[in-house]
Amino acid sequence: MVSLGLEDKVIVVTGGNRGIGAAIVSLLTELGAKVAYTDINIDEQNNQALGIKADVTDITSMEEAARTIKEKLGTVYGVVANAGITRDNFFTKLTTEDWDAVINVNLKGVVNTVKPFMEGMYEQNEGSIVCISSISGDRGNAGQTNYSATKAAVIGIVKSLARECARYNVRANAIAPGFINTEMTKAIPDKVKDKITAEIPFRRFGEPEDIAWAVAYLLSPVASRYVSGEVLRVNGAQHT
Ligand code: NDP
Repeated sequence: MVSLGLEDKVIVVTGGNRGIGAAIVSLLTELGAKVAYTDINIDEQNNQALGIKADVTDITSMEEAARTIKEKLGTVYGVVANAGITRDNFFTKLTTEDWDAVINVNLKGVVNTVKPFMEGMYEQNEGSIVCISSISGDRGNAGQTNYSATKAAVIGIVKSLARECARYNVRANAIAPGFINTEMTKAIPDKVKDKITAEIPFRRFGEPEDIAWAVAYLLSPVASRYVSGEVLRVNGAQHT
């Protein structure tokens, strides 16, 4: 019997209350990891995981979450920076607030998520960081200049971080999902959805579980131990 080697590994997932984050939390607990998740709202406590109210835009709240996780579960091995938002509009219509909100959650939020756990990973000489980017960061998308900019930035972060932290046996990778069925994509008008679906060779949106399995692979100290600084595209063959 082979395993991904995630049993008893302490892993934190941001934005784990719903959508892709909730699917990641579920799969990782099934794989035997000790999972903590953070979110601005914790609706219903997932009994198998530790839910903590924390805002990724607030470094103090993330540092506090890191202390709680260490105290209750132990030193963190895996960090999944998943929390993200959209404030879509055409470039000429995007406001400064739309830019700030998206940069604060999707870019600074990733930094605030990863930083509090680095020291622990360096000390234990083992760790895996997975940041959720997007197809929009990879190839761009009309109406998403702010979002695409932050998702491209995340790719820059993991590529540099991968080079920086390899000597500590810590890896950093990104996943660029295509269009996935969650609350985020529910907001897309049906007409636009049909147009997008026609461009996806699989002719359907992906499911949150499709991303969760990619996360599990990149977290695995067995399956992806020599993979770092990589962008894994999970998009039903909707490449650039
Ligand atoms: P959802 O909107 O369904 O879920 C996002 C989660 O993040 C929510 O639980 C939300 O909380 C939480 N969140 C929002 N802001 C913060 C914050 N400041 N601090 C902590 N948590 C926060 O999105 P998805 O599950 O669809 O997306 C997850 C990730 O995947 C995002 O980074 C997104 O950009 C990325 N992605 C999604 C794609 C898709 O098609 N769905 C495609 C490509 C990438 P609350 O519910 O309270 O708002």
